[in-house]
Amino acid sequence: EQPILEVRNLKKHFQVGGGKTLKAVDDLNFAIRRGETFGLVGESGCGKSTAGRTIIRLYEATSGEVLFNGENVHQLKGKKLHDFRRQMQMVFQDPYASLNPRMTVGNIIAEGVDIHGMYTGAKRKERVMELLRAVGLNDEHANRFPHEFSGGQRQRIGIARALAIEPQFIIADEPISALDVSVQAQVVNLFKKLQKERGLTYLFIAHDLAMVKHISDRIGVMYLGKLVEVTTSEALYAKPLHPYTQSLLSAIPIPDPEIERTRERIILQGEIPSPLNPPSGCPFRTRCPHAMSVCAEVMPEFKEVEPNHYTACHLY
Ligand code: SF4
Ligand code: MG
Repeated sequence: EQPILEVRNLKKHFQVGGGKTLKAVDDLNFAIRRGETFGLVGESGCGKSTAGRTIIRLYEATSGEVLFNGENVHQLKGKKLHDFRRQMQMVFQDPYASLNPRMTVGNIIAEGVDIHGMYTGAKRKERVMELLRAVGLNDEHANRFPHEFSGGQRQRIGIARALAIEPQFIIADEPISALDVSVQAQVVNLFKKLQKERGLTYLFIAHDLAMVKHISDRIGVMYLGKLVEVTTSEALYAKPLHPYTQSLLSAIPIPDPEIERTRERIILQGEIPSPLNPPSGCPFRTRCPHAMSVCAEVMPEFKEVEPNHYTACHLY
């Protein structure tokens, strides 16, 4: 079966001052199957949001391809581009900043419906109510304003807005990072419920592996604009191959105190290098506990080292 999304050699570079090039996204390759949740994880500045924005074509790609249902997103025009804009929607990180404070919740949710001319009058109203209920809010909320809601409720409104025009695919860019820990799980559960009910496919972006664990079928780990590992959630948590993934996992506390006491933490040396001046060879080598001399000279190839398990590291 054809994947719903295929990303091939995708690059997004920005020209910055002093003739420098910021390689924010540098040669990504992965595919997402219909109905799947793909978690994209990495520290801030690794390029994961830029990747999301290039995939949905908020940014034009520098090179490479994004295929959505087999069509190259960056070459779509006219009606096909308009259809794509309906089929792929985004949920943003900050539910405070992403909702217009002067619009009622009902009008915020119906904005896409209005732009795409999908429903009017009683049908439009019914659609808004259906969406409010689907995200755990209620009919009276339609006439209120965003400031009257908590962070978790605002994110529910953002999700309802994204769903309003019946997309197939949602890019959620750190949708729970700004929320209280106590409501994060509720919002993750809402994403799961909606996926089941509506057959949605998700690209779920997060800055740590703990946040994507319970929602992702497969996970990609990014470092300095590159994917360093992609595999199923089970394989990633059970047997991470890349030293960077291993360090990220070792930072997640384990609920069992016995294991927590005895296991080894991998503490990374140094800071993430500037993406404007990445190390030669392997981008992770300045912090890698296993770095060898070849790592400074040769960029490791991103390849399948076990079935459905891809990584970019000279150890394999
Ligand atoms: Fe570490 Fe070398 Fe592997 Fe890079 S290629 S992650 S530096 S062992
Ligand atoms: Mg971001």
